[in-house]
Amino acid sequence: MELVFAEVEERGVQSAEKTVIQAVHKELFIDGKWRASSTGRSLPVEDPSTGEVLCEVADAGVEDGLAALDAAVAAQKDWAAYAPRERGEILRRAYQLLLDRADDLALLMTLEMGKPVAEAKGEITYAAEFFRWFAEEAVRIDGGYATAPNGQGRFLVMRQPVGPCLLITPWNFPMAMGTRKLGPAIAAGCTVVIKPAEQTPLSMLALTDILAEAGLPAGVLNVLTTSDPGPVMEPLIKDGRIRKISFTGSTAVGKILLAQAADKVLRTSMELGGNAPFLVFDDADLDVAVEGAMMAKTRNMGEACTAANRFYVQRGVAQEFGRRLTSRMAELKVGRGTEEGVKIGPLIDNDAIAKVVELVADATAAGAKVLTGGSTVDGPGHFYPPTVLTDVPRDARMGREEIFGPVAPISVFDTEDEVIAAANDTEFGLVSYVFTTNINRALRVSERLEAGMIGLNTGLVSNPAAPFGGVKQSGVGREGGRIGIEEFLEVKYVAVGLS
Ligand code: ADP
Repeated sequence: MELVFAEVEERGVQSAEKTVIQAVHKELFIDGKWRASSTGRSLPVEDPSTGEVLCEVADAGVEDGLAALDAAVAAQKDWAAYAPRERGEILRRAYQLLLDRADDLALLMTLEMGKPVAEAKGEITYAAEFFRWFAEEAVRIDGGYATAPNGQGRFLVMRQPVGPCLLITPWNFPMAMGTRKLGPAIAAGCTVVIKPAEQTPLSMLALTDILAEAGLPAGVLNVLTTSDPGPVMEPLIKDGRIRKISFTGSTAVGKILLAQAADKVLRTSMELGGNAPFLVFDDADLDVAVEGAMMAKTRNMGEACTAANRFYVQRGVAQEFGRRLTSRMAELKVGRGTEEGVKIGPLIDNDAIAKVVELVADATAAGAKVLTGGSTVDGPGHFYPPTVLTDVPRDARMGREEIFGPVAPISVFDTEDEVIAAANDTEFGLVSYVFTTNINRALRVSERLEAGMIGLNTGLVSNPAAPFGGVKQSGVGREGGRIGIEEFLEVKYVAVGLS
């Protein structure tokens, strides 16, 4: 397998990289101002394709966290009273700025996170769409007026901003996970403290500049970068002035945050882990199924909670599906995301590689066969090749744990009941993929799968206009769609006596 890792000595390429990194503020953003961390410490940001440090950003401590909270609380009253149209216009301007700067922002994202530049650019567009969508939703927050059933009084129902929110985002979609939370919070009239992942703070810092430029008032957005998320976040959660937490990340951390949120009975939205089954029935259009598999498995190098984690293929098409998927996976170029033609960038860090290696070793020891890939790549950076495994036993660890890498484990099934039981045999329930051309089966299976989302003859479910979220331990709440803004609104009912 060829590892594309061209020399980056070319002065033009290097200076473009330096320019986008230099353009980012490296400090904390509190009450409309960039300021140094009170700890005096900084946090290194690494390029996962080389392991080299790209730059350092401020490393916030507890005091900074509380200053950010003070600013969010102080700004809440005025922000809630802002004209909804104006809140929407700020998002709309930020949407446009994201698109105008998409090339630079994509390069910046690739440098800190690793995904190929074309994919990073796709994420900028996707991220911007959340701002466009919620700019439109800001002016559609409504309420109700009804006559009580006994005719004696009236019900008035209004929606108001929840209040100051704490938003915590992961490293795998550094821009879109931010806009998916900021869009509805801003549209609803909530102020926020947001904390991006320590591996990928630069995209959020760049977004902060954009929102400030778009006219967001001081204190509405406060941004903390820290290497110490637990100790810095907990005092904010326990303080009592934050009214909501919106988190995207691992189920393990989600559970910690839910426990902390219980103390002050905070509203929560949790978008946690997945273990997506990918079902291919004998009657599927195999071209569509293989295309869907490539999307669901290789997008973001498989580092997505929506990534297909388990492929169940019906016996009649199993061999052909495995052959076609293997040939597509084997031809993907692996390398630094800035290089032409690269489709698989590095994984985020050494732990990510170690996890994939462990899961593949566990599956092969239990009898799985390697059709392509399956061993680590020499050289700098955290690379793992596109891998297809077949005959993967159902009890292999990768059937229960998120792989978060470009590895497709295939196992064969015979009946619809059997595959639904296997697909649902997990504590997770984010997304399931189903490939069939039989309309009855499509609807029957979609109804029986325990998941918040179904990809029916498609490998991509994410869309800012659709409700994204999971059931079971994949989380609570929905992001995007008409419902997305509800997560940031409280319902207030006024009982009206009428004489
Ligand atoms: P991953 O395993 O994908 O890195 P995590 O759940 O560890 O996912 O991280 C997701 C986000 O949660 C990151 O922004 C990270 O800094 C943050 N985080 C991790 N631990 C805690 C914690 N104890 N409290 C608050 N935030 C945390």
